[in-house]
Order: sequence, then C-alpha cells, then structure tokens
Amino acid sequence: MRKKIVAGNWKMNLSLDEALALSNELKVIINHHNKQAHSRDVSRLPEVVLFPPYVYLTKVHDVFVHDGSISVGAQNCHHADKGAFTGEVAASMIRSTGATHVLIGHSERRTYFNEDDALLSQKLKGALGQGLVPIYCCGESLEDRESNTFKQIVTDQLVKGLFWLDKDTIKSVVIAYEPVWAIGTGLTATAEQAQEMHQHIRQLLSEKYGHDTAEQIRILYGGSCNAKNAAELFAGKDVDGGLIGGASLKAHDFFGIISSACS
Ligand code: PEP
Repeated sequence: MRKKIVAGNWKMNLSLDEALALSNELKVIINHHNKQAHSRDVSRLPEVVLFPPYVYLTKVHDVFVHDGSISVGAQNCHHADKGAFTGEVAASMIRSTGATHVLIGHSERRTYFNEDDALLSQKLKGALGQGLVPIYCCGESLEDRESNTFKQIVTDQLVKGLFWLDKDTIKSVVIAYEPVWAIGTGLTATAEQAQEMHQHIRQLLSEKYGHDTAEQIRILYGGSCNAKNAAELFAGKDVDGGLIGGASLKAHDFFGIISSACS
C-alpha cells in the first residue's frame, strides 16, 4: 500500500521568525497527537514534508531533526551542480542543509519563470543525482480544461519532462497533479475530477513502466485543498495525498489536512 504524503508549499511567505513559529507549532501538534494516539494510529499518519523558502531550510530542518516527524524540501533547484549562476541554488546545496525533497515544475515556475519540460528534465536529473526526492508538478490551465484538452496537456508534461527516466529511477519520483485554475483561487477540482486525472496518470505510468511500478508511485493532488475538502479529495483510489499552498501556512488547518490523509 502506498503511504500518503502531505506536503506544505509555503511559497514566498513568512519571515524567519514566523517560519520557525509555524514549524514549532506543527511539531507540538504532531507530538501531542502521537502521545495521545495508540501506536497503531501513529503509523497511520502520512509522510509530511514542508517546503519553506531556501533561506529557511537549515533552520526549519533543525526544528525536526531529532524527532523526524517532518521532512523538509526546497521549492526549486538549479539544474547545474555549481558554477557562475548568481542567485541560483544547486541540488547539492539543498541536500547539504538536510533537506530531502525538492519541487520541480510548480506551475508558478512554469508560468512566471518560463520553465519548460526540457529544463525541468535537467533539474530532475540534478535533483536525483543528489538523492533528493523530486515532486514533479503537472496540471492544465482553465482554457485547457474548458477546451477538453486537459488530459493531453498533462500527458505531454509527463512524457516530455518525466518519462525519459528509467524504470528504477521513476520509483523515486512523486507526481503532483495541480490544475492551474485551482491553485490559490479557492476553486477546487471535484473529487471525481481529481480521481479521473490521477487514474489517467497512473494508466500512463502503467503503459510506460508496467503495472507494478505504476502502483508504487505516489500521485498528490494540489489546488485549494483545505481541512474541509481534503478527506473527500484523498478518498480517490489513485490520490495519495496533497500538495498544499495557502492552507499549509496555519498549523491547525494544515494538521487538519494531515489527519485527513491517515491511512
Ligand atoms: C500550491 O502552491 O501548490 C497550491 C496547491 O496552492 P493552494 O493550496 O494555495 O491552491
């Protein structure tokens, strides 16, 4: 059975003090839950990963380093190992902070920073080379949804950006399906729309890598997911948790989502 993941993308929000306060609050809530819960229930919690801005990675990682309840990742990385790329951050640097994950191809990177599937492939290579777990994001615009080309758009993003990986390596990747029209808008895909796309993605994985491999890969939903709608969205057979933006900035809201992902 695939273990669910709940990931919090803080984007370009919070001061360092606020980031540490949120991290500590989450730690207290999770520890309290674990103390109250039967040990069987502790293991039912999903994996939780936080994606703070780069400059907070080390400090946020330090909050969780001893109890291991939460992992930390970066929101982006540069594709090169090192060099004259002023202002950029390499996967090796991210790894050296203790972070274990990295987002690749978030729609805000694709839209505002013109990241295309060719560049994202290189970033994936850099991240995997450092042993980071990439969360590869894909998703259609509102126009694609309305013109009924949404499945083809997501298929292209996966085939071009991801499906060059071999069968062993693809297993280290997590996929996040995030319809662009649902990100930060308060509009959420219905549970049926989410499951339909997740099933499509798993079918593509199965055609390319075989049924057993496809069954092992986690596919997260993202787009205005909150503590109220998470349980319904996560109930989809192919939905393995969520990538959460706005609702990850409040500890109790985020914990509500984490609780909805208990197996
Ligand atoms: C995101 O940024 O990946 C996201 C899903 O944002 P929100 O939850 O705010 O829609």
